[in-house]
Amino acid sequence: MNGKPLHCIWLLLALGAILLPLQGEKPGEVLNPRKTSGSFVADGGDVLSPAYFRMIDGICRELQAKTTIEMAVVTVGDLGGLGIEEFAEKVFHRFAIGARGRDNGLLLICSRDDRMLRLEVGYGLEADIPDALASRLLEREALAHLRDGRFGRGLFLAARDIAVQAAGAAGVTLTIAEPAAWPAEAEPPMSKVQPQPKKNKSWDPLLASLYFGGGILAFALLAIALTVKRFNKARGRAARARIAGGTQASVILAWIAAAISFFLILGFGGKFLTPFVAMLAAPGLATFGRLFTGRMLKRRLAAYRLPCAKCGATMDMVEDGEDEKFLTEEQAAEEKAGGMDYEFWHCPQCGAEESLAVKLDKAGVCPQCKRRTLTSTTAALVAATREREGKTRVIESCLNPTCNYSRIREHATPKLSSPSPSSPASPRSSSGSFGGGRSGGGGASKKF
Ligand SMILES: [Zn+2]
Ligand SMILES: [Zn+2]
Repeated sequence: MNGKPLHCIWLLLALGAILLPLQGEKPGEVLNPRKTSGSFVADGGDVLSPAYFRMIDGICRELQAKTTIEMAVVTVGDLGGLGIEEFAEKVFHRFAIGARGRDNGLLLICSRDDRMLRLEVGYGLEADIPDALASRLLEREALAHLRDGRFGRGLFLAARDIAVQAAGAAGVTLTIAEPAAWPAEAEPPMSKVQPQPKKNKSWDPLLASLYFGGGILAFALLAIALTVKRFNKARGRAARARIAGGTQASVILAWIAAAISFFLILGFGGKFLTPFVAMLAAPGLATFGRLFTGRMLKRRLAAYRLPCAKCGATMDMVEDGEDEKFLTEEQAAEEKAGGMDYEFWHCPQCGAEESLAVKLDKAGVCPQCKRRTLTSTTAALVAATREREGKTRVIESCLNPTCNYSRIREHATPKLSSPSPSSPASPRSSSGSFGGGRSGGGGASKKF
């Protein structure tokens, strides 16, 4: 009967563990060059020598400065099995290339191993660069160079032709000169590939996210198991109620651990999405599991009867209203103040009696009579503002009728911290990233 909720928790945890590693996808791995280096070029395919990288980036910069049109040039090793149209659309969408509202973005993307080249055109430029024109722009010069492995020259010429066309439609002339001598192309990427896998093996963000998600879930399960065990061992209703509804420190710990692990994984070069999903999913499941366990324990509590320590029969509890005659004056005061709970059980079979006492947190220990009857009330006398400190009065008084302890303290509360200087809502088109533009799938793709 009690196994059922636990089975559900296991199922959810297992589901979470299975879903975590499915987050990584190739277009999601292309780094946004505006964010990583401030440039418009991301050379994930390692096909551009530094000279070509600078030349192509220069075209994009001039285009953006004179027309606000944003052009990104992206190379990748391979497309991970996706079509270049889908791949380009995902990268375009994720970078949000082009100014928001104007959607004047362009994405020139080249896959080294698939030997594919595509120009993806934002909504706002589809009239200026229709698909047929996009196709001609790629064919004009670029394809022949790409076919012969001259990626730098081919991509430079494609980017130039596209930029000149886009700027011309906006009535702007660009000043892009062909270099007097074509710079050297990048080394063939195969020679660079060697050290790469080693580096990847030492730190795989996906695996790290999986470990940290799994670790948090394992921790949550352990915490839940310990809670259930403590609940089953606790003798008396109040003690069990305290455990069932107790402070959920483990849940808070799980969230803190998740946040720390998230930043650790990012700091060691992880991508954002996977650890983020793990950070939400794992402690989310842990929280759900803890709430579920709490509810289950409370249901079990309602049916709880203390077993007799002598004969094993089920005992009867003296209800709260009727236990006054069993309590001393001090105990009654403690119960009233919320510092203790006393229970009295009676065995109908052998006549044994048992009394149980549990500490509760609503009242503290009185320094004078040592009973858990100390209550305190706090009142703000002067509210703190940004200019001056506030003042708070704390009245402690003991509710034990045989003790007259009371104490009044006043202490200052700190000034309110001034709100951070009003940062103007920064427009998305700042230099930190692309502007927020969208594309509708327009453009052209070429095999080379
Ligand atoms: Zn008994
Ligand atoms: Zn006292």
